[in-house]
Amino acid sequence: MFLSVVIPCFNEERTLPRLRDALASVLPGIAQDREVILVDDGSTDRTLEEVRRWSAVETGVRYVSLSRNFGKESAILAGLRHARGDRIAIMDADLQHPPELLHRMLPLLESGYDQVVARRDRRGEPLLRSMVSRLYYRLLNRLADVNVQDGAGDFRVLSRRAVDAVLSLRECNRFSKGLFSWIGFDTAAVSFRNVTRQSGRSKWSVGKLVNYGIDGLLSFNNKPLRLSIYLGLFAAVLSCGYVGHVVLGALSGGERIPGYTTLVAGVAVLGGMQLLFLGVIGEYLGRIYLEVKRRPHFFVKESGPELMPVRQQR
Ligand code: UDP
Ligand code: MG
Repeated sequence: MFLSVVIPCFNEERTLPRLRDALASVLPGIAQDREVILVDDGSTDRTLEEVRRWSAVETGVRYVSLSRNFGKESAILAGLRHARGDRIAIMDADLQHPPELLHRMLPLLESGYDQVVARRDRRGEPLLRSMVSRLYYRLLNRLADVNVQDGAGDFRVLSRRAVDAVLSLRECNRFSKGLFSWIGFDTAAVSFRNVTRQSGRSKWSVGKLVNYGIDGLLSFNNKPLRLSIYLGLFAAVLSCGYVGHVVLGALSGGERIPGYTTLVAGVAVLGGMQLLFLGVIGEYLGRIYLEVKRRPHFFVKESGPELMPVRQQR
């Protein structure tokens, strides 16, 4: 077995030494043949220096440095393209994905699964955040045609063919949780206790999370568009009924001026709905615009030692 461990790093200079220690105590017991692929996602601190230094002193540690910050999804993709292993693990640099868990994950892969995903519980997380997340994943699984479990993140191990499947998906807008689920194959899950970030800061703000959420909902289907048809139909039927009522009233009882409330309510509700779905349509249009440009997902500024992409960009 040859194991590749792909680790996206963005401004992780302070966590890298700790990551190094953690990996050193775990990896030798797991795989004799292995490589660690550190992807520097355009960090603005000394991450690249740290990564260079690490790869210089330890064999089997390789790195790619991207030309700018392309985001975690692209960094993972870059790592996967360079990974040579027949088993590939993906984990965060900040030790929120405890490497010891690989001891439980890899045997499952050996027993025939193509993907093993680590699910974290939400212990120690603000109540509101965990509630919103749970609700969101319920909604996502209902609406989208992919099954993404709450707490299942990017900490996974994959077989070669699962990675090749992910690499063959060409979309620019990569909601990787969904992509991993979309490719199928037998997937096992392993739970672990939530750990808070050791040092440095999370790159997620509330705004980014909301955008990520919208991405997830829109990336996999056109159900929001379908929903607009149903709602439009519903509104049309409702207004037909109301128009009939008004016209009949006018015919039977003459002038009927009052109706300010209904008028305002009608205009406001319909206006709101129209704007919402104009936004939905625009969102899909924007996605099409981004996709048709077929831009590469990242550029490599520097890599080493002896690291070449295994799978070419399509
Ligand atoms: N990351 C990255 N590019 C980015 C943002 C994050 O490569 O633009 C990496 C980061 O270095 C870490 C992982 O993705 O290894 C998870 O990031 P973070 O800890 O900020 O996210 P959280 O754990 O809060 O979901
Ligand atoms: Mg983190």
